[in-house]
Amino acid sequence: MMIVMKEGATDEQVDAVVKRVESVGCSAHLSRGELLTVIGAIGDRDRVAGLGLEGAPGVDHLVPILKPYKLASAQFRKGERTVIDVDGRRLGGESFALIAGPCTVEGREQTLEVARCVAENGAAMLRGGAYKPRTSPYSFQGLGVEGLRLLQEAKEETGLPIVTEVMDARDIPDVVEVADVIQIGARNMQNYPLLSEVGRTGIPVLLKRGLAATLDELLMAAEYVLKEGNPNVMLCERGIRTFETAYRFTLDLLAVPALKELTHLPIVVDPSHAAGRRDWVAPMSLAAAAAGADGIIVEVHNEPDEAICDGPQAIATERFAEYAEQLRHVVEVAGKEVSTV
Ligand code: PEP
Ligand code: MN
Repeated sequence: MMIVMKEGATDEQVDAVVKRVESVGCSAHLSRGELLTVIGAIGDRDRVAGLGLEGAPGVDHLVPILKPYKLASAQFRKGERTVIDVDGRRLGGESFALIAGPCTVEGREQTLEVARCVAENGAAMLRGGAYKPRTSPYSFQGLGVEGLRLLQEAKEETGLPIVTEVMDARDIPDVVEVADVIQIGARNMQNYPLLSEVGRTGIPVLLKRGLAATLDELLMAAEYVLKEGNPNVMLCERGIRTFETAYRFTLDLLAVPALKELTHLPIVVDPSHAAGRRDWVAPMSLAAAAAGADGIIVEVHNEPDEAICDGPQAIATERFAEYAEQLRHVVEVAGKEVSTV
């Protein structure tokens, strides 16, 4: 149930409603918009309905939420979009952020070269995996803590916030030392204990859609993070598995407008993992921006042919400036502004 407070409702009135919601064993999540405060009452709907809050001081009206996800639902923010601020870079609403970097951190020179290039050419954040989810257990699994250290060095030099993946809750203490955004990979989208644990860190989360997940399942996964009191979740469309084998995954760009209707959370598109080939990454990036994506996460490498992981889909550093410039035009046509600092 959503309890929509009146414009100008006082803090005391909001607190009183929160206490009454909690008194019947439900939890109350606050969303303070510019004009309105909405209280999401999570728990047994009948018990909240039984409180008779319609007549309580400061309450405007109650809205039953029919979707299984509540905190992620568009209704929860009464049409306002969530804008995530990562060290001054904004993603969501009117703001678009480009996240770029290597698939995986391979070494010092590679990481710093790519970081410098993307920083100079308009990226808002640096991506790079220190822990890699690989299909084969015999493939390179990431540099781990050493990879995190290199990301930290890249952050110190370029000022770019870091987006990096965590796969195992045991690594969270190390990852939070460096990550400004924690990535949950497609394969872990339904790892519920991991989602809850990452939610408790309070650090923004980039949640990738599972290979065969519906939008409802993606939103339910986001709900696990939000439920822990972490409101900063960005959803990421990265391609789903279909019968088509001509490319790595099918980039489901309809997810962008569809999710915008269902949720207030910002939507990021990853064209790299869907395309699997660098010459298809630029056109799909432009299409994603045109569709209204709030951000793009793209793989870039200084020596793509030598890359340990996902080289064929990495944009070469020499081409990145041109790529970012083209993208900026489409972002502007879509009515957003590119966020950099
Ligand atoms: C990645 O971003 O490098 C990655 C492994 O992505 P996904 O989880 O979408 O496959
Ligand atoms: Mn990759």
